[in-house]
Formats: sequence, structure tokens, C-alpha cells
Amino acid sequence: MDELMQHAAQLLTQAQHAVALTGAGLSTPSGIPDFRSRETGLWENYDPMEIATFQVFRRRPADFFNWIRPLARQMFEAQPNPAHHALAHLQQAGRVQQIITQNIDGLHQRAGAQHVIELHGDIFTGTCVSCYTIYHSAEFQAEFIDAGRIPTCPHCGGIIKPNVILFGEALPVHALLAARRAVANCDVLLIAGSSLEVAPAADLPMLARSRQARLIIVNQGPTYMDEYCEVLIRDDVAVALPMIAARCLPDRAADRFSSG
Ligand SMILES: [Zn+2]
Repeated sequence: MDELMQHAAQLLTQAQHAVALTGAGLSTPSGIPDFRSRETGLWENYDPMEIATFQVFRRRPADFFNWIRPLARQMFEAQPNPAHHALAHLQQAGRVQQIITQNIDGLHQRAGAQHVIELHGDIFTGTCVSCYTIYHSAEFQAEFIDAGRIPTCPHCGGIIKPNVILFGEALPVHALLAARRAVANCDVLLIAGSSLEVAPAADLPMLARSRQARLIIVNQGPTYMDEYCEVLIRDDVAVALPMIAARCLPDRAADRFSSG
């Protein structure tokens, strides 16, 4: 295992433009379930594929908000784990230039990462569906989480939709283009905590590969890209990423990293 960590660190150290792509697995050590999975235990009565849709949001908003409330509560309370901190340190040290995530929990940023591309939006902002005013979660958190009401716009009474991309909804074009641009220009792509089952994250590694980028995968389960990657680490991201980071950061940064 140590040889794999060393190899991954070597690729990142030699890279001119390394990009990290992260998925739900990065936040499971922070206690956040993969909301696409039926086995999270959060929603006994709901199938996320059927309820996390724009149609349900429009037609049955109470059902939609009852579904998303426990998830939002967990995300508001969650803390970044060692995998988030490792990636933030790698970015600060210039070993990773760009972080792209499928996650909506903001934990990369809370660990100190900058300019994170969020492919599926974020749960900390919401938009009024009638007047398009954008709100930060602090403004509707009490009403929505604590009182259990549907968050509504103080100006016009419209429902505030969390800025999370639902099933059946288009991805944010700006984020998608930025992700494709970063991946098309990278020479190393580090995939962490994603099983690469959901587009567009599923397509990005192939794009990197078509540009001769070298791939590192850190994921507990298999992915369809496993046979194409140079380093495959089947381990917990919260264990593996700090080990990789410690091996490619300068001594002082590594010391600071292991103590923090
Ligand atoms: Zn409004």
C-alpha cells in the first residue's frame, strides 16, 4: 500500500496541472450519506430517485422539503474530514490546481479549498422561484430546519429552492464548462470518493484520458475507469489522501498538516 501512496505522490509532485475530482465517498467519513443511495437509512419511506426531482419540487413541495430536510440538517452540522483537509493542503501547496466536486455540502471550502467547481450546486444557498432573489442558508435555516416549514421568500412569498441540482434538472453550464476546461488541460487527474456512475463526473476521466493525462483513483468500490488508471488505491479516502499529501508536501507543510 505504501508503494501506491508513494507512486500517487510522485505523480502529483511531477504534475504541471493536477486536478482532483471528488464524489460522495469524500464526505461519508464526515457522516454525510450518498443521497443517491437507497441504503443510507435516512429516508425509510422515500426513494431519492423519485423524490429528488424538479417535478416533485414543483408539484409536491412539502414532500420534497420533508425529503431534503434531514440531509440539509446533516450538511449544516457536518465537519470536513482528513480527506478534505488533505486536498486543501495539496491545493495550497500547488500540487493540485483545481478541485471539482459532485458534492453539495461545501466541506472542501470549509477545509480551506478555493475556487471549487460544484457540479451539482450547493445546499447553502437558495433561489426564490418567483422573483429569483438568492438567499444564503442562514436566512432560511431556522424556518426550514428548526420549524419544519417550507422556506418562502420574504419579498414575494415564492418558494425558495435550494441551489441543488435535482434529477431531471440541467447541470449548471458555467460549472460544467469550467470542469471540462480544467480536465482537458490537466496532466494528472486524481479521482477520490467517486464511483463515476453519474454524468458528467463519469465522463470527465475519459476526457482526461483522451488528453494523455495520468489517472489516480482512490475509492473503496470499483469504477469503470479502474483499468485505465496508473494508480488504483482501494482504501478509505480519509486514510489514503492524508498519506499521499504527507508524501508530496514539503517537510514544513507536512508537519503542519499532520498536526492539524
Ligand atoms: Zn421572491
